[in-house]
Amino acid sequence: MSTELAIRVGSFLFMLVIMGTVETLWPRRVLDAPKKQRWFTNISVSVLSSLIARVLAPVAPVAAAIYCVENGVGLLNFLPIQPWLAFLTSVLFLDMLIYWQHVLFHKIPSLWLIHRMHHADTNIDASTGIRFHPIEIGMSIFIKLAAILILGPPPEAVITFEVLLNGCALFNHANVKLPLKLDKGLRLLMVTPDMHRVHHSTDMREANMNYGFNFPWWDRIFNTYKSQPDKGHTDMQIGLKIFRDSKFSNLGRMLTIPFI
Ligand SMILES: [Zn+2]
Repeated sequence: MSTELAIRVGSFLFMLVIMGTVETLWPRRVLDAPKKQRWFTNISVSVLSSLIARVLAPVAPVAAAIYCVENGVGLLNFLPIQPWLAFLTSVLFLDMLIYWQHVLFHKIPSLWLIHRMHHADTNIDASTGIRFHPIEIGMSIFIKLAAILILGPPPEAVITFEVLLNGCALFNHANVKLPLKLDKGLRLLMVTPDMHRVHHSTDMREANMNYGFNFPWWDRIFNTYKSQPDKGHTDMQIGLKIFRDSKFSNLGRMLTIPFI
């Protein structure tokens, strides 16, 4: 278990440093708030959310997967399926689940109140990728645990998925200017910063598109794909129209957003 935590935290910190450096060297947009202050609040809320989730969750997702394997719980532990296929199916299934969870957090009004804190960031960079309200992180854990009990994925698939999700969230929120050809090629396999930036538009028609975090395929399959923002990446407005006041970038005020 401590190895799992070390892998997750280590890969997360590695990606945070890499993306923070890359977006500082090759920025896509000019940020209108000091990076230091944004990173402090976004990292603080992320640490707070992770700690609360850790305390509230009965077990970590990977521990639930180990339990499933040892006790023959879950669909994949019943079926005579090759280990590599069980691994692949599990990573894809968990990613599709996160896609639908994200859709529901937009479509169900009470869930949107919570998810709004993520979208209220008036700038977008790697730190936005970890800015989620503790209630949203807590709910995500329980949804994931339920999915693991039903599916019974290999524990390695759960770790891979979590590392992938953390790494991709930092990458696809990054304020980095990738060569357009590279972006086009990468989009066939993963969600790129230009693709996900559309989702952070103040124009809700754009914010209700591009829900994917890791793989870009679900948006294409379920018809929620928009390739570019109408106003272009440098002129589009980021955030939510009702939370433009700088007081909402304060950690305490951010946490009250679901209740406003
Ligand atoms: Zn969203």
